[in-house]
Amino acid sequence: MKLFADSLPFYKANFHCHTTGSDGKLDPESAVAFYQEAGYEILSITDHRAVTEILTDRLLLIPGIEIDYMLPGQSVHILGLGMKKEIGSLWDPSGTPQEGIDLIRDLGGLAVLAHPAWSLNTPALIGSFTGLSGVEIWNSVSTLPLNGDRADSSSLLDVTWASGGPLLPVYANDDSHPYKDEAGVAATMVQAEELTLPAVMNALAAGRFYATTGPEIRQIENRDNQEIIVRCSPAECVIFYSDAPWAAGRAVIRHGMTECRYRIQQFDRFVRVEIRDAAGRKAWSPPMKVEAPVLP
Ligand SMILES: [Zn+2]
Ligand SMILES: [Zn+2]
Repeated sequence: MKLFADSLPFYKANFHCHTTGSDGKLDPESAVAFYQEAGYEILSITDHRAVTEILTDRLLLIPGIEIDYMLPGQSVHILGLGMKKEIGSLWDPSGTPQEGIDLIRDLGGLAVLAHPAWSLNTPALIGSFTGLSGVEIWNSVSTLPLNGDRADSSSLLDVTWASGGPLLPVYANDDSHPYKDEAGVAATMVQAEELTLPAVMNALAAGRFYATTGPEIRQIENRDNQEIIVRCSPAECVIFYSDAPWAAGRAVIRHGMTECRYRIQQFDRFVRVEIRDAAGRKAWSPPMKVEAPVLP
């Protein structure tokens, strides 16, 4: 089974940025211009607690919002993508995160858990949510020099998935605020039939995308639950993470490799692929459910 179609294009997207509609430095027109000039084809302006509206034909805009909750010991930030703009007035900040997820879905949108490592989210909390369509495995603003170094949520998500949490597809977004070091770093690469709102929403709902700060993933195949095969832009290191603490052949280090294989182990219940290039940039596949072959 292949994760992606062999013939469809990937579109470069950032589904998380802020403008002067909340606490971002750029006005919406300037944010759109920045991302279009940086080669992005899809953008979602996700201002805090309100939908910022703007008309543009420079790139495909997906209506967005970021809603937030405080719980003991952690915050919960949720992106709403593609929902009706009425969410700004219907959303209840004194409600629960699950109510926020439900509202986004009721208004025709997709709910994405933002930056769980930055938020100090626990695997138990993440695993308790129903109706999420994805999670940010990376948000550029949460790294140096701006905001500590909790941009990468992958270890936290491994714990979540190993303990039975839903295997959510992963986004890499900038979460742009000052538009300095963090903007134009991350991308969610979406494989859609065409560059239209319905086609992109369909692709997101179906999980046909991957996360990256540079490397390209071209195809991932689960061959008969025996082997995972990944094809990518030239990489220095490919790591196949699973729910097992140790696995033979998990890390492959080889200069300039564009294909890499992993033999699925008896104890694997999911496998995800992480790719590093010579500059240390990463790409992350979604976690893929596997059913390890029964021993003879
Ligand atoms: Zn946030
Ligand atoms: Zn944000």
